[in-house]
Amino acid sequence: MQRWTSQQSLILEILYDAEHFLSAEQVYDIVKQKQSNVGIATVYRNLKKMVGQGLIGEVTLKHISYYTRHPFSNAFFLCEKCGKMLRVEIPITDQNYLSGEIGMSVNRWKMRFEGICRECEECT
Ligand SMILES: [Zn+2]
Repeated sequence: MQRWTSQQSLILEILYDAEHFLSAEQVYDIVKQKQSNVGIATVYRNLKKMVGQGLIGEVTLKHISYYTRHPFSNAFFLCEKCGKMLRVEIPITDQNYLSGEIGMSVNRWKMRFEGICRECEECT
């Protein structure tokens, strides 16, 4: 359970840091450098799962799938209890606005919220 979650987090971080689309093999190459015990089947499974959850985007070109962070969101929420990750849409998406606010040139941004998801909240 814990390992599954840390792999998902790692893959998500990789995709949110990437400048462009990555194939599953490319994601796997980066994952391997950090968690050498991970198999490519696990990477595939996690990618498919996260596409289903709406956390990441997928395009298929000539029968090869490429993955990217979600095009409309740079923010995600991690539940501290069940480890589930959810995409969060918040209105600050304008890089020029962000650059003006902090007085530095923003090229990309990401946010990670941590807390308790709705389902876990209802269970307590
Ligand atoms: Zn939860």
